[in-house]
Amino acid sequence: MDGSALVARGLTRDFRGFRAVDGVDLDVAAGAVHALVGPNGAGKTTLFNLLTGFLAPTAGRIELGGRDITGLAPERVARLGMARSFQIASLFPQQTVRAHVELALQGSTNLGWSFWRSEKPLRRFRAHAEELLDRVGLAAAADDTAGSLAYGRKRALELAIALALDPRVLLLDEPTAGMGVEDVERTVELIAAVRDGRTVVLVEHNMSVVGALADRVTVLQAGRVLAEGPYDEVRADERVIEAYLGSADAAH
Ligand code: ADP
Ligand code: MG
Repeated sequence: MDGSALVARGLTRDFRGFRAVDGVDLDVAAGAVHALVGPNGAGKTTLFNLLTGFLAPTAGRIELGGRDITGLAPERVARLGMARSFQIASLFPQQTVRAHVELALQGSTNLGWSFWRSEKPLRRFRAHAEELLDRVGLAAAADDTAGSLAYGRKRALELAIALALDPRVLLLDEPTAGMGVEDVERTVELIAAVRDGRTVVLVEHNMSVVGALADRVTVLQAGRVLAEGPYDEVRADERVIEAYLGSADAAH
């Protein structure tokens, strides 16, 4: 694959008159890790929701692998090869860790997301689910309930669920948020391992994580692209330094 895996042109989203994402152009090269950074409220999560079909844009256009996906539902976007990490809120506290990944694997087949079905058909996903859990370091926790996992391990489970969809383009929204140093290091290694053969778009506040992983960085501020380029260039950009001044993020 060469060229752009994901392109946005003039992407805009209003919330009752408030423009959260404002004419964003984005070019994510195939095979790249592309970081999206910016102060809180810059519009990063809204942009993710637009790209993955969870929100409809007010204006603009999105292409995935050269195909117009503007306005498609999240399931369609996922089937076309782009998925985002699920949020912790979407985990089922009483369900086992393994069942989450089995359900995600089932969801990626044409059986669909039938959570209420009998557990029997899920068994054929067991080996694959365990392989994915092993990958994110959760093999030993397979029989635990999702609700019993510590915070960092819940994030690892989210990543396993996203990987179950085997997306060509993987979107990760703050995968290291709230993690201790060890979990951060582990997550960086994990993303470095799973990027192989994929394109990764990453919202990340921790600049050492961005520096370790990202080929390119787009800086958003107040819904607009403030700067875009290789990490070292963007980091040295006066406007970027100013946007971060006084914010805790600058310390990373
Ligand atoms: P970030 O992820 O960069 O912190 P968000 O995309 O979450 O920023 O939010 C961007 C702006 O849009 C914020 O001002 C936020 O309050 C607003 N916003 C996000 N979602 C909604 C919504 N559903 N309704 C109204 N305003 C929203
Ligand atoms: Mg956000």
